[in-house]
Amino acid sequence: MDTPRPTGARIDPATGHLLVPWSDGVTLRYPIDALRAACPCAGCVDEWTGKVLVSIEMFPGVTLKSLKQVGQYAFNVVFSDGHDTGLYTWPRLREIGRNDGDAAPPT
Ligand SMILES: [Zn+2]
Repeated sequence: MDTPRPTGARIDPATGHLLVPWSDGVTLRYPIDALRAACPCAGCVDEWTGKVLVSIEMFPGVTLKSLKQVGQYAFNVVFSDGHDTGLYTWPRLREIGRNDGDAAPPT
């Protein structure tokens, strides 16, 4: 089976969260502060130890400034705090996305 890949990206106007629909039919939600705190760049994660140097509390009210696809493997996200070095690869995005599921499970 192919690795799922995003088929788009949009901001949910109600919450300001990023919504990414995937090729396998799943749509995942990304609060922007959580996305920012999950930045995998060398400035946010220690390259040698893998220690995460940022946390969600550091980014109150951060918003998404722009997002562009890099090749066939990642999104480059620019945040309102000016941070633009993070590359969010598809596997990484799948890992950190939140699945809202169905509002009401079938009974
Ligand atoms: Zn970063």
